[in-house]
Amino acid sequence: MTKQTLEFKTEVKQILDLMIHSIYTNREIFLRELVSNASDAIDKLRFEALTHRDLLDGNSDWKIKIEADREAGTITVSDNGIGMNKEDIVRELGTIAHSGTREFLKAIQSRELQEQPELIGQFGVGFYSSFMVADRVTVLTRKAGEPEDAGVKWESTGDGTFSIENLDRKSRGTDIILHLKEQERKFLDEAEIRRIIKKYSDFTEHPIVMDVEKERPSVIDKDKMVKVREEEVLNSRKAVWLKDKSELSESDYNEFYRHISYDFSDPARTIHFRAEGTSEFSALLYIPETAPFDIYHPEFKIGPMLYVKRVQIMDHCDQLIPPYLRFVKGVVDSSDLPLNISRETLQNNPQVALIKKNITKKILRALEDMKKQEYENYVKFYGEFGKILKEGIHFDPVRKEALADLLLFESTDTKPGEYTSLSQYADRMKEDQKEIYYVTGPSRTEIERSPYLEAFREKGYEVLIMTDQVDDLIMGDLLEYNGKKLKSVIKGDIDLKPEGRDQETAGKQFKDLLEFIREHLKDEIKDVRFSGRLKEAPCCLVAEEGDMDIQMEKLLKSMGQKIPEARRILEINPGHRIVDAMDSLFRKDRQDPLLREYIDLLYGQALLMEGSSPKDPAAFSKSVARLMADNALGEEKIQPESR
Ligand code: ADP
Ligand code: MG
Repeated sequence: MTKQTLEFKTEVKQILDLMIHSIYTNREIFLRELVSNASDAIDKLRFEALTHRDLLDGNSDWKIKIEADREAGTITVSDNGIGMNKEDIVRELGTIAHSGTREFLKAIQSRELQEQPELIGQFGVGFYSSFMVADRVTVLTRKAGEPEDAGVKWESTGDGTFSIENLDRKSRGTDIILHLKEQERKFLDEAEIRRIIKKYSDFTEHPIVMDVEKERPSVIDKDKMVKVREEEVLNSRKAVWLKDKSELSESDYNEFYRHISYDFSDPARTIHFRAEGTSEFSALLYIPETAPFDIYHPEFKIGPMLYVKRVQIMDHCDQLIPPYLRFVKGVVDSSDLPLNISRETLQNNPQVALIKKNITKKILRALEDMKKQEYENYVKFYGEFGKILKEGIHFDPVRKEALADLLLFESTDTKPGEYTSLSQYADRMKEDQKEIYYVTGPSRTEIERSPYLEAFREKGYEVLIMTDQVDDLIMGDLLEYNGKKLKSVIKGDIDLKPEGRDQETAGKQFKDLLEFIREHLKDEIKDVRFSGRLKEAPCCLVAEEGDMDIQMEKLLKSMGQKIPEARRILEINPGHRIVDAMDSLFRKDRQDPLLREYIDLLYGQALLMEGSSPKDPAAFSKSVARLMADNALGEEKIQPESR
């Protein structure tokens, strides 16, 4: 093959452009990225070699080597990993935009990233970061298992094209050679390289080595010291998770967390344990303090890293953790799983299921402890991840009791921003109160204004305020807490018997009127009845016990889902004067159009209070305006006579 010049894909060009005109002050991370690629390449080969030993070619002395050449102005990162053939290299370093690249381009526009450029590390733009410090990058590589003349040389100045040509190469693996820009020569400095490796790559499992100058006694004359160049391992390589708790300090834990998470703050909680017995594994897990910006992204990678006897099998093993704990990061190292386990075989592996169960239990317990011991931190955690944790009540019915104990809500008794747990609520319940009440709605302010809470206020019953769209669904799954039923104040029958005329008396007294209203609105509503929850408001709409609340209905509709129209029940305040007014019209002349108009108005008001619009807003407004005029002018007429 002669030399070929190829174009980078558009997205790659954009990335390169950003790298060259470096947006980013923390340029030293290029070394972390190259080391991490070298380490990945070794892991890939080690993994392949489990089933194809011949790929190793007798060389499994894994090593990542860094060489700084002062004269040439180059820094080289070499590995004896899997290497690349021509197709690999064209694809990986030029024509495909790794999903990370696209994400990065999208996110680079975000405020968050402009203010906190360290976050760059979260993206898979690794290799291209070389162009922050180099004006030319050369890659020499040969893939494991392929002949010596199948090597490839790749080169680019980052200007939109790259070249590839044939290469004879004795050893498999890859050299990445960075021709440093004039002003970036500091990266040739031994101490600087040491510092960067220590900072970012200390836990890398494979040795990262460099030839360094040492003083040694001369072989010829033992009393004389001479300078020799010797290979030195720069990283400590300790598998933190396998160490004993007593050997580790908080800062060891935190350092490892930052290493695996690219998060720049410390974790909110560390969970480190070793399981023995039916399933043997070590786990070092972390609950982050803040949610990563992409946690709601469908491609968010979930699950801890999976190791089998210190060999890394997977970056993210989603089989090890339920999705509602997807914020947890860390490492699981199993002694029982076979090394050649794959994504497919993981799925039906009973050991994996055991580990998952064990881990889930441990995490929930850690959260429970956090709630008891560090309540303020727990509240912060809940603000970040509560919404995700809650999903567990729906998806993991076996653990819904444990999860229910972790929930926090605002309530009519808490100040805005302060929370209560279900158990605290239960402790405060009034003696005559049998159920736990909750109300769902778009915001606390709107909920507090709503008529549904009137009678609860009068009775002094606390009501939990729920503003997450999923809350209604979650409560529907939870059903009860410690034997106490959870009841939505906007659903089903509520019989609080507020002061004044009660529902039964009214039901009997105005039976015919009720029947008339029911008939008039039969196409709109499921039923009409007198309410046991209203005090001031004339009426409201309520859902049947098992039906969705209006929030959930709107959410599903907005997602384009067709949902069966669940008709509501119209409840009328039995103590309101409007009932007497309508009844008197009804008795005089039930054909009076004014009576129908009143019924429509009543229904319109109920819709408004639910957060919907009256069916015919123009007619509604016309009616109201006419009533206003009649009322005011009518009185004017009466006034002179009564004087
Ligand atoms: P990522 O590491 O997230 O995949 P990078 O931009 O760092 O993204 O690397 C792109 C790809 O280039 C890697 O996925 C890998 O296939 C290939 N690659 C980079 N460095 C090496 C290397 N030293 N040995 C083998 N392949 C490599
Ligand atoms: Mg990488």
